[in-house]
Parts: sequence; C-alpha cells; structure tokens
Amino acid sequence: MQPFSYQRAADPSAAIQALSSNDGKDNPLAGGIVQVLAGGTTLLDLMKLDVMQPAAVVDITPLSSEWSQIRLDGDTLRLGALARMSDVAANAEIQKAYPVIADSLKLAASAQLRNMATLGGNVLQRTRCTYFRDISYTNCNKRNPGSGCAAMDGVNRMHAVLGTSDQCIATYPGDFAQSLIALDATVEITGRAGNRSIPFAQLHRAPGNSPQVETTLAPDELIFGFTIKGRWPRSAYLKVRDRQSYEFALCAAAVALDMQDGIIHDARLALGGVATVPWRAAEAEAQLRGQRLDEALASRVAEAAFAGARTRPHNSFKVALGQKVVARALQQAVSMEI
Ligand code: FAD
Ligand code: SF4
Repeated sequence: MQPFSYQRAADPSAAIQALSSNDGKDNPLAGGIVQVLAGGTTLLDLMKLDVMQPAAVVDITPLSSEWSQIRLDGDTLRLGALARMSDVAANAEIQKAYPVIADSLKLAASAQLRNMATLGGNVLQRTRCTYFRDISYTNCNKRNPGSGCAAMDGVNRMHAVLGTSDQCIATYPGDFAQSLIALDATVEITGRAGNRSIPFAQLHRAPGNSPQVETTLAPDELIFGFTIKGRWPRSAYLKVRDRQSYEFALCAAAVALDMQDGIIHDARLALGGVATVPWRAAEAEAQLRGQRLDEALASRVAEAAFAGARTRPHNSFKVALGQKVVARALQQAVSMEI
C-alpha cells in the first residue's frame, strides 16, 4: 500500500475543492490523485492491493447527516449517497413500495459490509475481475490502457456476456444498480459547476475502446443522492450465486411490473452478473406490455434478454442460467400478493 494523506470534508465544498486536484483525469474513479472515501469497504481493498494508488483520500462521512436521507414523499423516493446499505434494506416503507431495492441490497455482500457500505460507494464499486485486482498481471486494459486483456483467454467464468468489447469483458459487480436502472432512477451529482441530475442509465460507461473510463462523472464530481418516481410494490430481485452466505452474482434479474387483472401494463427488467455495466433489457421487457404472463412468454422474454450475448470459453453457461433466472423472476413478480 502506498502512503497517502487523509482529509475529512467538513462540508460538500471542501470535498469538491479537494477533488479539483483531479482536473485533466478522464476517469477520476481510476486515475484520480484524490479519491472519495465513503464506507471504504472496496476503496481500501483496492489501495491495499496497489490497484489504486491515490495520493490523498477525502472522507465524506462527516456529510452523512445531510447526505444519508431515506425519504418517501408521496410517490417520490429520495436516497442519499451516504445512506448505509443495511439501513435502506431494513426500511419498512422501502420493503413495501420497492421490494426490488430492499432485496438487491439485502442479497449484496455480508451483514458487516452492508452496515458500513454506502449507496454511493456501492454503485461506484469497481469490477472484481481477478486480473484487474492482481497487479502481477500486466495485461489489463482497464488498469494499464493498451496492455491487452488477460481474461479473454484466461479464466473467464465470472466475466460478462453482454456489453463487452474486444478490450474488456469485466463484469459490473453490484446488485443495487440493477434496481436503480430498472426503476428509471436519476442520480444527483454535485461539483464545481453546480448540481446536476442524470438518468442512472447514463452514469456507467460500457468498456468500448476505453475500458479505463468507467463513469461519466467529471473529475471534481460527487454523487449526493438518487431519486425514483413512482412506487413499484410488484417488484423483485432474484440472484443466483456460488454460495448463499455472501457472494457476487453469477446471474441476477431485477423485475418491476405494473399489473391489473392479470395484464401487464408496464414492465421493467434489468440484469446483473452478466454485463459490463448495469444492464436494462429494454427490448425484452417491451414484449411483456399488454400481455398476460405464461411460461411461453416468460421463455421468449428470457431469450430476448440474452439475444446479443457474446460468450467466452468458460462463461457460456451464463446464457442458459440467466434465461432461467429471468423467467423465474418474472413468475415471482407476477405471483406476488400486494
Ligand atoms: P467506498 O469503498 O468508500 O468507495 C467505493 C468507490 O466509490 C471509491 O472509488 C470512492 O471514491 C467512490 N465513492 C464513494 N462514494 C462516493 C460518492 N458519494 N461520490 C463519488 N464517489 C464516491 N456488492 C454488491 O453489490 N454485491 C455483492 O454481492 C457484494 N459482495 C461483496 C463481498 C465482499 C467480500 C466485499 C469486500 C464487497 C462486496 N460487495 C458487494 C461490494 C460492497 O457492496 C461495496 O464494497 C460497498 O457497497 C462500497 O461502498 P463504500 O461506501 O464502502 O464505498
Ligand atoms: Fe482487465 Fe477488463 Fe480484461 Fe479484466 S476483463 S483483465 S478488467 S481488461
């Protein structure tokens, strides 16, 4: 681990000021001289592994009274970036109006981690690709742009089948992001240029030719919260993983349905564990609108969700497994009693 300096941000402007040293970095998350520290549950890991070597960290937890709200106001849900995963998962209003959010958080990481980790840090966690996290492998385009990709012909069982490029096939590891993208959440961002909101779907960038650029955040920007409009009581998160106690997803599906008399009026479907970014299966979900779910429709939607999949030698099982997860998540959401 490299030496670094530590600063506590007394207010948002102090954090933004500290991050201004990152000017000119196209990906502050990866190459920033200054990194934001929230729960620290993944940043510190990456610093210990020397994958990330910031010269300074700015601790934003002093902002938590202002930035950790969990508020359902009418049909609008506001979640602060510093809200803890465990607090949001345990919130009774969220469990009732947004089970997909509560479940995606409850099924992520371990209880100890969820008590420490924040929503902002969760959506910005970096890939668990083994070759990325082990600096003895030099060929990783995400860590060393232009060096190649050890995973392409390496052990790629956990890697992505959707949204990949010839430069990188790393999976986006988080769970909560799938519920945000399914529910059309917006992200509130603050920086030197002021505050802005963007659709959550525009926060992450697929690898393309620049896998090292992972988000659309500017070098001096922070996330301060998320907003979701509308309530989704008929929603579910189904996650399949190698072990039940705690593990990243092999395949996961976030489903939200608006149904009346057995007919689906609106449907949202997002996939986890199989794509390079939080993945909305928009074409697949469109097939559900105006329909009554039966086994045949669930299979067609599941197939459509993986239509563009590109597999590698060890991860082709994710297509068949992912299709089953989608079909089962749809059936689970349809049969919910609300
Ligand atoms: P930090 O480590 O503090 O920060 C993470 C990154 O986000 C850093 O780059 C930081 O600079 C940046 N950042 C943080 N907050 C902000 C902000 N407000 N604005 C801008 N940048 C910010 N996650 C899952 O989803 N599912 C799992 O199954 C899962 N399993 C795990 C198992 C293990 C053993 C471990 C160690 C982690 C696991 N995780 C899993 C990841 C865990 O959920 C994350 O480590 C955690 O959510 C990160 O939150 P944090 O507040 O600790 O972030
Ligand atoms: Fe690096 Fe991406 Fe290849 Fe993993 S998949 S080794 S993160 S370039």
